[in-house]
Amino acid sequence: MVCFCFLVDQKRQVRKSKPAAGTCSRCGGGASVADMKTATRFCHVPFYWKSWRAIMCTFCGSILKSYH
Ligand SMILES: [Zn+2]
Repeated sequence: MVCFCFLVDQKRQVRKSKPAAGTCSRCGGGASVADMKTATRFCHVPFYWKSWRAIMCTFCGSILKSYH
């Protein structure tokens, strides 16, 4: 099922975020608590959504911690 990999992709979206305590381990930037939404798409048509919360860096955007 090699073709399957090319048809399915995921789109990550930050719905809202607010500053949080802590700093990024990669760049030292400020951390924020973000409500994330991940849409899994098949042929660019979303068919599955998942909402989750994560601590992410406001500077480089890396996920520091996630709560699924
Ligand atoms: Zn960072």
